[in-house]
Amino acid sequence: MTLGAKLTATTRDDTTLLPQPTVAATRAVGHVIAGIAEPAGEMLLDILDPCSGVIIAQVARGTAVDVDRAVAAARAALPTWRALTPNDRAKVLSAVADVVEAHLEELAILESRNVGKPISLAHAELPGVPEIFRFMGGAARALQAPAAHEYVAGYLSMILREPHGVIGAITPWNYPLLTASWKIATALAMGNTMVLKPSELTPLTTLKFMELVGDILPAGVLNVVTGTGPEVGAAITNHPGIDMVSLTGSISSGQRVMTDAARTLKPVHLELGGKAPVVVFADADLSAVAKMVRVGGFVNSGQECGASTRVLCDASTSEELTRLLIEQVGEIIVGTPEEGDQIEMGPLVSEAHLSRVAGMVDRARAEGANIAVGGYRPDRPGWFYSPTLVLDSPRGSEITTQEVFGPVVTLETFTDESDAVALANSTSYGLAASVWTRDIGRAVRLTSALDFGTVWVNTHLVLAYEMPWVGFGSSGHGRECSTLSLEDFSRTKHVMIAADRSET
Ligand code: NAD
Repeated sequence: MTLGAKLTATTRDDTTLLPQPTVAATRAVGHVIAGIAEPAGEMLLDILDPCSGVIIAQVARGTAVDVDRAVAAARAALPTWRALTPNDRAKVLSAVADVVEAHLEELAILESRNVGKPISLAHAELPGVPEIFRFMGGAARALQAPAAHEYVAGYLSMILREPHGVIGAITPWNYPLLTASWKIATALAMGNTMVLKPSELTPLTTLKFMELVGDILPAGVLNVVTGTGPEVGAAITNHPGIDMVSLTGSISSGQRVMTDAARTLKPVHLELGGKAPVVVFADADLSAVAKMVRVGGFVNSGQECGASTRVLCDASTSEELTRLLIEQVGEIIVGTPEEGDQIEMGPLVSEAHLSRVAGMVDRARAEGANIAVGGYRPDRPGWFYSPTLVLDSPRGSEITTQEVFGPVVTLETFTDESDAVALANSTSYGLAASVWTRDIGRAVRLTSALDFGTVWVNTHLVLAYEMPWVGFGSSGHGRECSTLSLEDFSRTKHVMIAADRSET
């Protein structure tokens, strides 16, 4: 996926269980368990439009009992699903990709409405959903392993690669359907079945997806239970019938999941936050850096784990880069999706998140930081925060080392290459970083020295599904995308056959 991805041609479908994205909701949506879209029941969660705070839908507020039912359905579906050949599973995943592709526009409108993101961004990200289903279906047919061989004379060794069983998947609100699809496609391609809990803030596209694939996926292969983290998420993590948990979310949720999973010793797969540095040397194209930060730091209102939030520049370039950044950040067009295609940035996802982001900027200001652009809530409905550029924060301060997950970029300076490396690595997050230089030797040294799971050179936030997306340190350790993720969502079994006793 690149930020400049093009909209794929789509068609519209008027039959929907969900409220149409352009009108306020009147109907509530329930869990999808064992292939059945259930009634929502009495316990409901309100789903709000971040641009207005208006309720746009209601979904079921699940409990541990619902998770029990979903796990039972996933376990019942497992033997048949895992017994299919990789090719047969790939055909199913390909059909999923086709139906999603045919409904991309509808999904984009719904995602844009629920997250508050510009429609152009929803158009750019959602083609990644069919792409990952096609990639994982094909890749699971071409797995690699140590060669079968008599490593001990007379004993033939081989590797079987098997599904873990039932995967519990817990997903975030920033790219709701995209992050869910990475887990679903990979787990299902390897023969696992799944119980998935979308974010309680943004479950609508995941539920719409379930409606679309209802006739394609066998009942129980993928089950969705909506609800909160402490209720449904914790029930999934603690459940003895779940064989592995994959979470994309914050550090604190990752810590909870890891602690809870320890009780049943189930493997965990964690994709957590980020605080990506952008390391700019004096020979870099400063104008290109500033233009990139306008997108990479503010796309999805900065609610992006790989966002270019932390610009670190050679002190000699500070003045010029500051000027260019002020210009670029100051020009960002903020608004609702309805305001048109020129909108670059929408609101934050919730009032609570807006307060958190504003609080971090306020504390930076109180510590003496210079808020060169933004730093305020615009006077309009919805949970908007202005695109913000923070200068002169002390090294090690909260705003420069902790994930803001909002439209806030900081600028710091370094003195030389080793200072640049030390400064870039001085955060516990290790998801992504970029280096900007024309010196190839320096680029090679930096890519090795930086402790981040992705290091870009002279670019930022370009993803390739053939390559892993993975963090180090506080960013977790679970690999998404690429054939390496197929390894995470499966287990290896060593089989040894004594050749000379085959007839006994
Ligand atoms: P979050 O941690 O608040 O929620 C993520 C999911 O975890 C939600 O579904 C939530 O209900 C669930 N959850 C919360 N508490 C739980 C518990 N005790 N047990 C089980 N599940 C629980 O995160 P968010 O606010 O939805 O998303 C933002 C975070 O996600 C940021 O830190 C961001 O960097 C990270 N993120 C990372 C990536 C990546 O690829 N590394 C991608 C997107 C988002």
